[in-house]
Amino acid sequence: MTRRIVIPFIPGDGIGPEIMAVSKTAIEAAVRRSTDGAVELDWVEVVAGDAAFKKVGQWLPQETLAAIKEHGVALKGPLTTPVGSGIRSLNVAIRHALDLYANIRPVRYFKGVPSPVREPHKMNMVIFRENTEDVYKGIEWKRGSAEANAVLSLIRSMGAVVRDDSGIGIKPMSETASKRLVRAAIKYAIKHHLSSVTMVHKGNIMKFTEGAFRDWGYEVANTEFADSSVPESALKGSAANARIVIKDRIADNMFQQILTRPEEYSVLATPNLNGDYLSDACAAQVGGLGLAPGANMGDSVAVFEAVHGTAPKYAGKDIANPCSLMLSGALMLDHIGLESSASELVKSIESTLAEGIMTQDLARLGSGIEPVRTSEFCAAIIRRLS
Ligand code: NAP
Repeated sequence: MTRRIVIPFIPGDGIGPEIMAVSKTAIEAAVRRSTDGAVELDWVEVVAGDAAFKKVGQWLPQETLAAIKEHGVALKGPLTTPVGSGIRSLNVAIRHALDLYANIRPVRYFKGVPSPVREPHKMNMVIFRENTEDVYKGIEWKRGSAEANAVLSLIRSMGAVVRDDSGIGIKPMSETASKRLVRAAIKYAIKHHLSSVTMVHKGNIMKFTEGAFRDWGYEVANTEFADSSVPESALKGSAANARIVIKDRIADNMFQQILTRPEEYSVLATPNLNGDYLSDACAAQVGGLGLAPGANMGDSVAVFEAVHGTAPKYAGKDIANPCSLMLSGALMLDHIGLESSASELVKSIESTLAEGIMTQDLARLGSGIEPVRTSEFCAAIIRRLS
């Protein structure tokens, strides 16, 4: 009997609907091929963003959140962030409403894709970025406001020296959020047989936020994963014996390391802002955001999404790159237990790109590569799957 799995999807705005259409086709083909038809996906469209506002007068309807919660998973296209309305960012609102505390961004090289670095194949990292705290909390007050002045008085009474004409921002980082993020990163490393988890922090300057993030991370590794992990400091020249090596690096050093020794890192666990910068810097080394998939995960719900935006100037032209969303679809398949379908899909994207079949955003980075349309790219992938 065929097993049916319900997948809610948000087509998104701008190029969203067209990259979603081809991605769904490729994902379905991969599932059909790898399971011999034993598994079928039932796609259920739910709306958010422009489409939702036009349909029901809301940017993020409760029904959409309820459907994602019910099925525990969703594939999401990019959404326009409404300017001048109540919602600061729809993506942030979705993450907040579903407590999707880990932003996961695997970054790897695809042969054939033009890259700005000499050895792009050495980049193969998965970045786990904390999604709920640090600067993402958005706690700040304008220079001269009553709130900023009140905070200034308070912190001065505690000995801080701050200029009168300062805007004030607060970056909270809790033990709860830091530990669950590092825990998720270590679990991922175990599941995927990866060799290390590196916490990236600025603890040399901010001891009780960034430094505490590192300390809480080591505590999680030492207490919950003592059998499967070993701190780098305990290795002293001995082998890790198949255990995951837990390291930490100061953020500025890490930016050097991703260029000079990328092969020494597999999973990075970061507070919000460090991860924000690092994930784009890593993606740039292998051809840019068009190839970077993303996931936002909580304990019971995960939303998989393209990391780029709606690229409105390409909407409706059949030239946008669907790789980021397709690869996010592969992550989703892996997450719901269809690992072989995920790997079929990734393999066919790999071979398509390796043969120089790519959309204009990638083709223009090299020389003499004739770009294909979004639909032609998808057809090339399906051919390799069937
Ligand atoms: P963007 O939509 O990511 O586009 C910026 C540029 O990136 C495009 O002009 C294009 O570059 C390139 N690009 C992005 N995706 C591409 C693709 N799939 N194929 C080919 N090229 C691609 O960023 P933005 O213009 O800053 O934002 C537009 C809207 O998207 C805003 O409303 C923003 O809030 C929203 N947004 C949503 C998300 C999300 O839903 N996750 C993320 C980011 C932004 P070239 O012009 O160089 O060809």
